[in-house]
Amino acid sequence: MVESWTLATVTMFGAIVGSFLNVVIHRLPARDVQRSRGPRSACPHCGAPIPGWLNIPILSWLLLRGRARCCKVPISARYPLVEAITAGLFFLLAWIPPTGVRPSFLEPDLAGWSAFLFGGFLVASLVANTFIDLEFRILPDRLTKPTMAVGILAGLLVPAMPGPIASEGLERLPDLTGGLLASLLGMLAGLIVTWSVRALGSLAFGREAMGLGDVKLMGGIGAFLGWQGALLTFFLGCVLGALGGGVRQLVTRDPKVAFGPFLAGAALISLFFRGFLIEFLTVTWPEWTARGDTAPLVFIGLGVVLLSMLLLLRRRRYSR
Ligand SMILES: [Zn+2]
Repeated sequence: MVESWTLATVTMFGAIVGSFLNVVIHRLPARDVQRSRGPRSACPHCGAPIPGWLNIPILSWLLLRGRARCCKVPISARYPLVEAITAGLFFLLAWIPPTGVRPSFLEPDLAGWSAFLFGGFLVASLVANTFIDLEFRILPDRLTKPTMAVGILAGLLVPAMPGPIASEGLERLPDLTGGLLASLLGMLAGLIVTWSVRALGSLAFGREAMGLGDVKLMGGIGAFLGWQGALLTFFLGCVLGALGGGVRQLVTRDPKVAFGPFLAGAALISLFFRGFLIEFLTVTWPEWTARGDTAPLVFIGLGVVLLSMLLLLRRRRYSR
């Protein structure tokens, strides 16, 4: 019973965070002053102030059937979508917590709630970056840099977040330093692997494979998820990006694909299923190859082809 109350509360909290993210997505990348003219909510079309009761996440949009009350201009479905996605992810954070400790109102403990809050920050940053990249084709420094900083703080205070530096064998460091080191190492891994592939892409194709924003976003993801999580995210992101980019080009003939959303999606998969995926890649997969199954090799070959395709599809992107 108390469990469901906790879950319901954090889900509603997620919807409110999503509502705030809509403001961030709308205002942060905007160059003109028009868009950011004060703390009060106003209709982006006609400028009429929006009353508080029309600012309820998801419900207000449904109530208005997607049209502004003041001027009847359609309100983008992005608003309720961001709120619903954030609410769903906050629910998952409490339901299948990445660090294994559930936040609870019944037995409030620091470990569960601090893991939840740091996880919530990562999730919020990923959602904001995704929708800003989709709309403006940038990953703003004002989001990616704080994500790196908070990720390192998360490593220091919640060492289970970036995970141990070595899975086994190596002697574990005391938790506090261990978490900080794991976080720093994860950030470096994220920065280096993305930067290298970006540089390789420039060398091979004469144009930038990814933007510097992608590099910084991966730094932030690595700071939260450790070096294994960073490499897993980058690998998954490339596979997802190649598939998504390929499909998109077939459908729209538009080769311009934002890479940020794929990295963010891959980071979410890594956040929730890291343990399972790492075991699959380091234990199950080598067992398959050892038995002489050819299927994994086919997958690797396919992955390389897809990755090259992805690199070819990239267009020049900048971060600021
Ligand atoms: Zn209006």
